Amino acid sequence: MRPRIGHDDAMRRWNGWGDEGHTAEVSEGGLALLAEKLGPGRPPVDATLAKVVAAVPTSRAKPGEFLDLDPEGRVRHARGQSFPDLVDLRSGRLDAVPDAVARPRTAAHIRDILVRAKAQGARLVPYGGGTSVTGGVSTRRLPDPVITVDLSGLAGVREMDERSGLVTVGAGTTGPALDSWLRERGLFIGHEPQSFDLATVGGWVAARGSGLRSFGQGRIEQLFAGGTLESPAGTMVMPPFPASAAGPDLRQLVLGSEGRLGFLSDVILRTSPVPEIEGMEAWAMPTWQEGCEAARAIAQARLPLSLVRLSTPAEARTLLAFSDHPGQVKALQAYIRARRKPHAWALLITGVAGARNLARLARNEAAEIIDAHEGIRLPGLAEGWFAARFRTPYLRNALWEAGYGSDTLETATDWSRVPTLLSRLEAAIEQALLPHREKVHVFTHLSHLYPTGASIYLSFIFRLGSTPEATLTWWRAIRAAAASVIAAEGATISHHHGVGADAVPYLRTEKGPLGIAALEAVTRVFDPDGLMNPGVLLEGPKR
Ligand SMILES: Cc1cc2nc3c(=O)[nH]c(=O)nc-3n(C[C@H](O)[C@H](O)[C@H](O)COP(=O)(O)OP(=O)(O)OC[C@H]3O[C@@H](n4cnc5c(N)ncnc54)[C@H](O)[C@@H]3O)c2cc1C
Repeated sequence: MRPRIGHDDAMRRWNGWGDEGHTAEVSEGGLALLAEKLGPGRPPVDATLAKVVAAVPTSRAKPGEFLDLDPEGRVRHARGQSFPDLVDLRSGRLDAVPDAVARPRTAAHIRDILVRAKAQGARLVPYGGGTSVTGGVSTRRLPDPVITVDLSGLAGVREMDERSGLVTVGAGTTGPALDSWLRERGLFIGHEPQSFDLATVGGWVAARGSGLRSFGQGRIEQLFAGGTLESPAGTMVMPPFPASAAGPDLRQLVLGSEGRLGFLSDVILRTSPVPEIEGMEAWAMPTWQEGCEAARAIAQARLPLSLVRLSTPAEARTLLAFSDHPGQVKALQAYIRARRKPHAWALLITGVAGARNLARLARNEAAEIIDAHEGIRLPGLAEGWFAARFRTPYLRNALWEAGYGSDTLETATDWSRVPTLLSRLEAAIEQALLPHREKVHVFTHLSHLYPTGASIYLSFIFRLGSTPEATLTWWRAIRAAAASVIAAEGATISHHHGVGADAVPYLRTEKGPLGIAALEAVTRVFDPDGLMNPGVLLEGPKR
């Protein structure tokens, strides 16, 4: 298996995304675009790891087997990858760190940790890859000790049923580790979130995510076949039935449970044969509206493509400005200028993967639809974008260092509401910092497409404030503006990032009082003493 960048490993950056050894630079074009739209960045002075570790308070946890009280390990597990997490880590203002990090290697170890946590009144935070962007693994200040349970020790393939295409893996297994093991056997899962290098299988399921290839491979709920949940109330085994009419499906309770019901120890996933061929293409669509119509037609034709993604003209321009290959961009712009208005085109990316003949057929059907909507093929662009897909998150580190904050948010709605929701969201985000005399650069794409609707994925960049508090105030203003539009338009508060701690109030609006009461009741059954991940998904249990 390919070695992972472990979160207890010095290879992993403690206050940003990814591997210490990898860096990204914001291109000259990208910096020029931001300076023009937002003004010059305000590079901050970051705290050092040594300083933050030196300020870690004494642990309130009782020492014991599997429990690590080392301050550096506690800092490294104190936050995930949300924007507030980043501000806390970069500024060194950690108002709470876990009292201990537990490192179980088996389900029996987890049961032991559950018993000991109950005995000392501690709360437990399941920590997979720690890539949550919603505060799902962030330590909050609580009256009781907090133990973050690092599940990376539960890694590796347990069983492979090749005939059924079912693989059973430890929940702490990362995407690359599983992918290389399966590919050696001619199989793959094809769940590829952009956080692929660090996120774990347990986190995929618990946060109910969606990967880049969801159009072809499905979301995690289509790939999750079963597994084992170790909850405070006991063990629940979920068999990998291909389908079942035996009442409501308990696997659906675990999908998106965000650590509130217990720990997934083993996960069973549905595999597919490695695609015989794979290809990507990019297309310039004459307008956003035309691009949307083509994307909808492709989704409703249910073509067996692997991915479909549509960027607004603003996002297309931003992607080109941020490209590290200005020469290629110039050539591409000249190519488009000769055929299109240079600024109005939307960028459609389509991909095929699978058996040669079927892939060719699907590609040609899609091309016919795109042609009917006056799309023109852009040579070379899609391959470069696809190859760089796991490197893009490193840009967030570089933007921060250049004095800009960047974040994303996502939602989903029906096709009939996509245009209004998207334009209202962009307007709300763009205007959110006007009272603070700051601007926001926002750009959007439809990231996951379905016959009845799409996920809208917005990226936004703004200048960092002169203090961490100012930066956070601005970020909150942007998020609140977007969330109120999402609620007003009846869309979902998350299509794939999950709820975490950040979106708890909005979940209440989305599910309604009866829905929330049902979820709270389920939580009490699995976790009667309120040990698990308090304040995430639902409000913290009252004790
Ligand atoms: C740069 C970047 C890009 C991203 N891109 C995508 C994307 O394309 N698609 C997508 O869906 N998401 C994406 N995410 C969000 C995140 O990576 C996913 O939600 C991912 O599935 C989380 O996996 P993880 O192992 O890191 O979980 P963690 O962040 O460790 O945990 C997430 C939640 O699940 C719980 N949890 C974790 N493991 C277990 C377990 N074994 N049992 C019970 N509960 C558990 C945690 O308590 C927490 O509530 C991205 C994040 C970043 C930072």
